[in-house]
Amino acid sequence: MIVTLLIQAGRLIDGRGKILRDVEILVEEDRIKAVGSEIQVGDDVERLDFSDQTVMPGLIDAHLHITSTGDPDPLKRVQRGVPYTALVGAAQAKRTLEAGVTAVRDAGAPFNTALDLRRAIQEGLLPGPRMIVSGQGLSITGGHGDPANGWPREVDFLGRRPVDSPDEARRAARQELAYGADCIKMSATGGVMSMGTDHTVRGLTEEEMRAAIEEAENRKKRTLAHAQGTEGIKNAIRAGISSIEHGFWLDDEAIEMMRENDVFLVPTLAAVYRILEAGTDKGVPEHAVEKARIGQQAHLESFKKALDAGVKIAMGTDAGTPFNLHGDNAFELKLMVDAGMTPMQAIVASTSLAAEILDLETGAIEEGLLADLIVVDGDPSEDVDCLCNRDNIKLVMLGGETKIRR
Ligand SMILES: [Zn+2]
Repeated sequence: MIVTLLIQAGRLIDGRGKILRDVEILVEEDRIKAVGSEIQVGDDVERLDFSDQTVMPGLIDAHLHITSTGDPDPLKRVQRGVPYTALVGAAQAKRTLEAGVTAVRDAGAPFNTALDLRRAIQEGLLPGPRMIVSGQGLSITGGHGDPANGWPREVDFLGRRPVDSPDEARRAARQELAYGADCIKMSATGGVMSMGTDHTVRGLTEEEMRAAIEEAENRKKRTLAHAQGTEGIKNAIRAGISSIEHGFWLDDEAIEMMRENDVFLVPTLAAVYRILEAGTDKGVPEHAVEKARIGQQAHLESFKKALDAGVKIAMGTDAGTPFNLHGDNAFELKLMVDAGMTPMQAIVASTSLAAEILDLETGAIEEGLLADLIVVDGDPSEDVDCLCNRDNIKLVMLGGETKIRR
């Protein structure tokens, strides 16, 4: 049986920058069949009337850690082990979908937890968004996320695996792809949350990243680089990376390189914001607060320069970092607007552009795309605030199926 559905939208935000009034959307099975007015359908077709609301694509978060909790010090929680971590991921995937997020890219989880969660969601065992999963990220010994930095041996809080030569990077990328990773994550610099690393200093070398990227490209997969300092950012771009994550210190040359090579920026402004908002008073490790403080101003300036230069920016929250909670994903849109985007630019970054970097046939309300959409009370193109309160998200549809109705 072919399930068809006619949605009446008072206001339609298409995900590419356009607003339309009083539009109908015809959904057939899991896809959008038509968008227009006075679409002719039989009496048996179910109708949903949202004449007083906004219909738009579901939000897409291009960088989060579905199994990380937002605890001030991630080390404490991860010591509870793998099964617990997987259960946490399941709870957080549900919360994410409930907040109107219909697709995410997991940027690192311990062992196979995010991969298994993706499978369980696909099999219909658990509610959650579409998941693009990067498995365990590659990093140098002593680099971002390496437990060797004074942590207990068994701890690997973001699921990083140390590699120390192009050959090791190549093997690690092949293994992650064999486990089922959809993309390969690598650390081009140190990081805010990793004890003992300096986020201005490079991590993997250009040659190491190139080897991993060749393996990903050979399997038609994209790559993402945790990259904060300028040298590491440029190494990753020269190696052929698909997206720069965080991008604290982007100089003019780096921005030009990104534009020329069609490299995305996924800024994750919420990660820095939440760490500084909470501070050491609420238990965030001192080294992390200090590194966030050092980077914040440069980060915001880099964001604005990249935006003005026309670099493609996709929304990513880094949810799972301290006080950066799953389900609060839309707060990132507010921060992007505060940092210089129009509300519509923030929406496009969170829908069609994020879909592009995730290689998903969604992110816009357009004929032929997957019917992943949300219904919102209010007008996010005027003020993205209305997306931040989940009570305003009246409906969440994933592949033509209503998952949440309020
Ligand atoms: Zn991250």
